[in-house]
Amino acid sequence: MKHIVVVATGGTIAGIGEKGKTVVYHAGEIRVAEILSSIPSVQHLAHITEEQLMNVDSNEMNEENWLFLANRINELIQRDDVDGIVVTHGTDTIEETAYFLNLTIHSDKPVVMTGAMRPASATSADGPYNLYQAIALATCDDARNQGVMVLFSNTIYSGRDIQKVNNYKIDAFDQKSFGCLGYMQDEKVYFFSKTFKTHTHDSIFSEHLPEKLPRVAIVYYYGGADAHILEYLSASHEAIIIAGSGNGNYSKEWMNMIDHCANEKGTIFVRASRVPLGIVFNDHVFDPHEHCIAANTLSAQKARILLSLALTQTHDINELKEIFRQY
Ligand code: ASP
Repeated sequence: MKHIVVVATGGTIAGIGEKGKTVVYHAGEIRVAEILSSIPSVQHLAHITEEQLMNVDSNEMNEENWLFLANRINELIQRDDVDGIVVTHGTDTIEETAYFLNLTIHSDKPVVMTGAMRPASATSADGPYNLYQAIALATCDDARNQGVMVLFSNTIYSGRDIQKVNNYKIDAFDQKSFGCLGYMQDEKVYFFSKTFKTHTHDSIFSEHLPEKLPRVAIVYYYGGADAHILEYLSASHEAIIIAGSGNGNYSKEWMNMIDHCANEKGTIFVRASRVPLGIVFNDHVFDPHEHCIAANTLSAQKARILLSLALTQTHDINELKEIFRQY
């Protein structure tokens, strides 16, 4: 039998509220051992050990927690007696942690994240079934070298591309226009696509993790938005991700302020989009002096993860642009 380590971080999957109800609960209340004991059939899938690394609402995840989690998974996954890792996590920021781990785990063994939209105390909680399937996926030979994955509602998503698209339904995720990596039927795994972007053991960021990440902010553009927010943030941040309109766009006032901050303070900018689907390319109309990196298909929050790691390696704008093409 394969040995899977379940690393628990909290989230709604470990949430408790009024018995039977789905609202008014606190995430990260019960230990993962308790969730596992509610699914005895999981013991037929693998030899399972668990590690309660933290127990928080995923809105508490931050640079420090990401590094702590990635370092611990890297330690566990190098062990010969560990065949795969499952991470339980809140759904609110699972897309950020999944991309961070996709870039920083130095192994091709399966790493599968999962969570739940209903707390453990709800009628028909979705967490135990998601956890069951995540463990089954982590034991699957085909799950090697797929990058960090997220298993949710019978569906296998790529850690790079997954995004939360519904804050109310159980089927809360998708993977942009790329569909998904595959489906599951109970413990059976069906892959049918693969990411082309560099990840895990091939990622330069997984070779050596930094002790600290630089400060990178996100600003949201809207009609009439005051450009001074860019100047304000550039005083305390190395880089700013703009969640622009359309193809990562903004007003002339913002364009001038980007020029000013890039020239005077050396601030690095990424043009992402507030539009959930599509791709942001370089644009000579909105970025005539080529100060900005195009986010490609990354959302603003994922572009922030990549840029934070990339800035630990280089500040050269052309090298950063190449990293955004590759990852
Ligand atoms: N607020 C919760 C969390 O992210 C939501 C969830 O897990 O579904 O921890």
